[in-house]
Amino acid sequence: MTIPFNRLQMLGNEARYIEQALANSHLMGDGGFTRKCHALLEESLGVKRALLTTSCTHAMEMAGLLLDLQPGDEVIVPSFTFVSTANAFALRGARPVFADVRPDTLNLDENKLESLITERTRLIVPVHYAGVGCEMDAILDIAQRRGVAVVEDNAHGLFGSYRGRPLGTFGVFSSLSFHETKNVSCGEGGALLINDERHTERAEIIREKGTNRSRFFRGMVDKYTWVDIGSSYVMSDLLAAFLYGQLCERERIQTRRREIWDTYHRELAGWASAQGVVQPHVPAHCDHASHLYYLLMPSLDVRTRFIQQLRQQGINAVFHYLPLHLSDMGRKYGGKAGDCPVTEDVSDRLVRLPFFSTMTEAEQATVVSAVRDFRC
Ligand SMILES: *Cc1c(COP(=O)(O)O)cnc(C)c1O
Repeated sequence: MTIPFNRLQMLGNEARYIEQALANSHLMGDGGFTRKCHALLEESLGVKRALLTTSCTHAMEMAGLLLDLQPGDEVIVPSFTFVSTANAFALRGARPVFADVRPDTLNLDENKLESLITERTRLIVPVHYAGVGCEMDAILDIAQRRGVAVVEDNAHGLFGSYRGRPLGTFGVFSSLSFHETKNVSCGEGGALLINDERHTERAEIIREKGTNRSRFFRGMVDKYTWVDIGSSYVMSDLLAAFLYGQLCERERIQTRRREIWDTYHRELAGWASAQGVVQPHVPAHCDHASHLYYLLMPSLDVRTRFIQQLRQQGINAVFHYLPLHLSDMGRKYGGKAGDCPVTEDVSDRLVRLPFFSTMTEAEQATVVSAVRDFRC
């Protein structure tokens, strides 16, 4: 039996909705399925406005444009994250400033924030790693006191919550990813969530190549024209049809993922404590989004052996982010070894187990027993 790290999931009416989109002969953006996705996201999360985009990366680029980031502005991002969290803002000429993460949740360490803020700091970008909420009370408090905006990179956290409030509703904006590896997907896609209505109209313009096309279609202006800078961030309605099929199954997806997460956590607890392996920590006030299941192995060498041993049994376990501050680009921004010691340490030791909604009980049992056979 081969068990991939991730497998495409078709759970509901994805194919039927795609046929409907074809029958509607509306494949460009902002058709019926896009509107259904917008409404579903706005209602289920309680955000002012949701706009589907071509990716999470593009949603964050939109946030950078909406905040008028300028060359020399500083943006604080965790070092332990995907490239796009920094790159989307570097594209505006902003300088990423890398913050270390907490050793327990691997989320942006709010205790390190204050010392990284300068008079050039414009933005803090928390990432809810594995779908576990960052310490938003503390982060928002610091941001407010220092006059800095917050944009959540919520690629992992859709349908998770922090102190009962959905992730993605804390920042002025947040981004979602519907990449194939995420809980809800359409292959490639994302969304910008807007929590401050003052930004809605300009967001629609930036997303539509700098035109007021959205207002034109709503009959609010009699012609559409170039009114601002912008780019092409609208998702095809064909992809929105697939996505809508997935979003309608969100409860089933989340319930199944939580079962898989809980099973790993329970079944590996004894083995982990005997072997000195650390399991994920979820604070009591966080309801996590069950995005991924990771283990922290005792060392890089042990992790390498672990991944090899599982691979010999056809099981695909994978590591995750390399520290951004030590990447070629990160070093150009001044990053150097020792800047973010927790990130540097966990990046070497973290491994993710196969995790997808359509994983069978037999598949998971195979992974569990292969993991338990491993000796550190
Ligand atoms: C997946 C991911 C992204 C990028 O998502 P795209 O939709 O592929 O642009 C950004 N940030 C994080 C934390 C991610 O996991």
